[in-house]
Amino acid sequence: MQATMRATGVGRARRRPRSYGEDRVCATDGCRVRLSRYNKADHCFQHAPASFPRLRGEFSDAWASRHA
Ligand SMILES: [Zn+2]
Repeated sequence: MQATMRATGVGRARRRPRSYGEDRVCATDGCRVRLSRYNKADHCFQHAPASFPRLRGEFSDAWASRHA
């Protein structure tokens, strides 16, 4: 039996990540958070419509008002 480490190397093929523009900011009105050129989202992490599994339940209205 030959045990080869075939898993290594996978995921390293991307040398040039696709960029989405240099000076993009969050699409939310009044928010000027700069977006990474490699971030394909239109909003910053605070205004992203997608939910974050790790923090599910934390981003309630009460939480937002407390951290506004
Ligand atoms: Zn934002």
